[in-house]
Amino acid sequence: MQQTDALFYFRAREGKLTHPRPEFQDREHLPTIIQQILAINERQSRLYMEARPERRQHWCTYPTAFACIKCMDGRVHLPSITGLPMGLVKPFRAMGGRFEVWWPAFRKRMHNWVATVQRKYHLPHIPDCPVSCGVLVTYHYSASDPDGARHLGCRGWRYDTAAGRAHAERLARDIHDAFMGQAIPFVVGVETDSRSLIFHGTEGDVSGMDCVGKSEEEVRWNIVRAFPGVDTQVAHDLVPFLTGNARRVADQLTRPRETEALGHQERVIAIGHGFDYWISEENLAVVVDDADPNLDAPIAAAAAIVAENVAARPVTEETLLLASVPYSVPGIEWNLSVMSAQGLCRYALEYLPKEFVHVFNGGRLRVLIGVTNEETKLLEPIAYR
Ligand SMILES: [Zn+2]
Repeated sequence: MQQTDALFYFRAREGKLTHPRPEFQDREHLPTIIQQILAINERQSRLYMEARPERRQHWCTYPTAFACIKCMDGRVHLPSITGLPMGLVKPFRAMGGRFEVWWPAFRKRMHNWVATVQRKYHLPHIPDCPVSCGVLVTYHYSASDPDGARHLGCRGWRYDTAAGRAHAERLARDIHDAFMGQAIPFVVGVETDSRSLIFHGTEGDVSGMDCVGKSEEEVRWNIVRAFPGVDTQVAHDLVPFLTGNARRVADQLTRPRETEALGHQERVIAIGHGFDYWISEENLAVVVDDADPNLDAPIAAAAAIVAENVAARPVTEETLLLASVPYSVPGIEWNLSVMSAQGLCRYALEYLPKEFVHVFNGGRLRVLIGVTNEETKLLEPIAYR
C-alpha cells in the first residue's frame, strides 16, 4: 500500500544506526500522535522503573511468577484491573488471546520464561525471586452485550464468548500437559463492563465481583475451594489479584463508565512484542504479537478496529502504525531487534487490507519504528513518517 522509503531516521552515522537512544532536539516538529506515544512511553517507563521496589516487595510475600495470555484488546490490562504494580505479570498478547503452544516463537518465549524463573529459584542468595510459575489464560467479554450486537465483546472471536473461552480452556490444557505442572494454567474470564476477573476452577468460579468486601483469608479459601489440589503457595499468591480486582470492581460500581468508553477506541496498531508494559493506557493500541506465524489475519483485524474507530472522527485525527521489539544487550541483539522492527513495519504496511486505504492514506497513517529496552521499557525510536 505505502512504502517505507520515505521514512525519516532519528539518527544515522555513515548510513548506520547508532545506539543508544538519540535525544530529540526538535520533538515539536514530530507528528502529534508520535509525540503523544513518546510522552506516554517515557511516563510509563518511569513508572515501571519506580515500581521496581514494589515488585520486589510483592515477590517477597507472594513469590509465584505469573504470566498472562490475553487478547490484543487494550481493555484487558492487568495493572488497571488489579491495581498490582506494573511489570509484575509477564504479558503475552495476540488477537483473541489466540496463541497456540505449537507456534515456534510463542513456545520458545514461554519456555524461556519458565526456565528463567526456575534458574533464579535455584540461586539461594536471591530470596525475593519468584519460585514457581502460574499462567493466567484469559478471554474477555461484555455481560451487557451477550450476543455481540453492540460490539462490546471480543472482536478477535467475532463476539463469540463461548468460542473464546473454549480456546482458553484448550490452551490451558496444552500448557499443563507440555510443562508437566511446572507452569500452572488458570482459565480467567475478564468481564469488561464491571472489569471483574473470573477464575474458572474445577469446583466453581471465584471472581473479583464475589470478593468485594472479603478478607484475604476468605478470598484464599474461595480459591482453594474452586481449585482443590492447587499448590498452597500458588493459591496464596493468587489472592492479591482477586482482592485488588475486587477493589477496582467496587470503584467501578460507584462510578460506572460511559457506554462509549466500554468499547474500542484504539488509534494505534502496535506490531511486535515487548511494549505491553508501557502501552498501558487503556484503549490506546491494538497489539499484533509477532509470535503469530500468520500475521496477516491479526493485522487485518487490527486495521479493521482502528479504521472503524477513526471513521467518524475528523480527517485531521491521526492513526499510527508502531513497530517495536525488545532487546536486552547492545550490539548484535540490538541490531537484530532494529531489523526485526523495520521488517515488521514493512510487512504490516504491505498487508494492511486494501479496503482501508481511504482511511489510512492521505497522511492520516503515521509510522514509528523503534526498539524497546527490556530493562527500562523505554522506546528507542529509529525512524518515523
Ligand atoms: Zn479481544
